[in-house]
Formats: sequence, C-alpha cells, structure tokens
Amino acid sequence: MADGLVGDWHDFGVMPEVRLPLPNVILGVTCESNEYLWRVEELVRTPAACRFVNAHLLGPLDLRQWTESGLECSICEWAGCEADVSRHDFDDEPGGWACPKCGEPCAHTPLDELLDWLACECNRPFHGDPAEWWGWCESLVSQADAAGVPVWVKQGPRANGSVTHDIAEFPQLAQRREFPKLVAKAKEGETA
Ligand SMILES: [Zn+2]
Repeated sequence: MADGLVGDWHDFGVMPEVRLPLPNVILGVTCESNEYLWRVEELVRTPAACRFVNAHLLGPLDLRQWTESGLECSICEWAGCEADVSRHDFDDEPGGWACPKCGEPCAHTPLDELLDWLACECNRPFHGDPAEWWGWCESLVSQADAAGVPVWVKQGPRANGSVTHDIAEFPQLAQRREFPKLVAKAKEGETA
C-alpha cells in the first residue's frame, strides 16, 4: 500500500493495475456539525486527488484542525493542529514540529493537502433560525478563506424560512461559488 498499489489483474482476474489516488475521482463526506467530525477524520486519511466536505449545516462546524493549521504526523497516526504541538527548528526542517504522540520530528503539512473544497448548504425544508444558520455558513467561509480553500455555497434560508439557491439573496460574505482547483484546471483545459 505504501506506493499506492492496491491490486492488479493477477488478484482480480480482469482488473488492470490500480493506483491511488485516482486522478479523476473527487472524494467527499457530508458533515452536519461538529458532532460528525469523525467523517472528516476518515476522509483526510483516504488517498484522493481532491477531497471535499459538503457542510449540510445543522450546527456550527469547525474544520480548522484540517485547514489553517492542520498537522498530520508522517510516522504515526496522530493528526491535530498547531496549538497541540511544540515547534522546533530541526536542522533539515526549519519550522518543523515534534509529534505529541510519537515524539518524532515532522515537517509542516499544509491545509490544502488535506481538504481541497468546502461546500455549504441548508436542509430543505429549513427548520431553524435563518440568521443563526448564516452565521454558521459565514464562519465556514472564513475558515476556507484563511486556508486558501475554494468554497461553494449552494443554498441557504431566507428570513421567512424558505430556501433559496439565488446567490444574490445570500449575505455578501456567503456569495461564493468556487470550484476545487482540480476541477477549475480541467475547465480551463476545456476552454483553452
Ligand atoms: Zn507521530
């Protein structure tokens, strides 16, 4: 598995050799609130050319451990954020850090290596306080911006509780429709 090889036709009879991550597959999970962060933990451990979280928000969602300061130990399974580690200037690794679990020196692992796209939407029909929901959404947009991750706001509640796709009706900060870099690049190729 270390080199990404998961099988060849000798194992499966008909399947060609498959290497991960598959370059044409975008992998994502739905996450409704901080109670479901375990899905994101599974996602960031799965090889993928492009990973996204679809935030189907039912409560606040804090993804910062995987965004602005996301760290993952290359030796053991530990993952966390900058606040969890002590910094060291290792001889060959300026700005390195020591893993709190195994103690090994590690290099920095930037955010967009872990999450490549954030999408955000509300339930339809919507139940709840529209202003509170937009607060959760705007927090997510801010997290994406701090990390340089593209963000797509699909739909949100109007003040009367109905749901709209019309970006012009969103609060200004939430008026965002950006593609992940992998898709944006493919689209550039189509039009070139
Ligand atoms: Zn470690």
